[in-house]
Amino acid sequence: MKIILIGIQGAGKSTQGNMLSKKFKIPYLSTGHIFRQISKEHSPLGRYIKEVMNAGYLIPDDKTLEIVSEYLSRPEYEEGYILDGFPRTIQQAEKFSNGITKAVYLKVSDKEALWRLAGRSVTEKETRDDDTLKAIFKRIELFHKFTEPVLAHYRHHHKLVEVDGEKPIAEVFQEIVEKLA
Ligand code: AMP
Repeated sequence: MKIILIGIQGAGKSTQGNMLSKKFKIPYLSTGHIFRQISKEHSPLGRYIKEVMNAGYLIPDDKTLEIVSEYLSRPEYEEGYILDGFPRTIQQAEKFSNGITKAVYLKVSDKEALWRLAGRSVTEKETRDDDTLKAIFKRIELFHKFTEPVLAHYRHHHKLVEVDGEKPIAEVFQEIVEKLA
């Protein structure tokens, strides 16, 4: 089972992704997490990625595809995976030929996501360098501009599962599981 999670920052992708990973016993991976790891490296690539992420911009498609393909070719992802944060552009979706099972869209309004993110920054222990308000607004703007066409792409291929992400966590999870069955 190869599942993709799509949604704006704050939609609950990592929460639901980790729950789905446990239920279906397949690994969860997030491109945001992968890029944050690379951004810590003291290399030209690490510095470049850090700069792009901190501004809330997207890593170029070629670089993203190269890194994601390298990860997904590892044996632990052979049986399937829950992938959070990719594809985020139509070019990524079209060039990614990994035979995904379904793309799950966690639908949450910008207002609700911002509300959640404001709460998260106060309570979360692990803070992110790329979580400035300016970067969050940029990410939301880029979601509407570049990632919404990805939803249309998967809808067209009858792979899109849409879920109301504003409901309580357990209900959202239940709805995803039912719609994946
Ligand atoms: P996230 O944790 O998913 O919000 O991702 C954090 C940052 O990583 C984004 O703002 C981008 O700079 C970068 N990133 C993550 N996934 C992608 C992707 N599929 N394409 C381009 N950039 C990405």
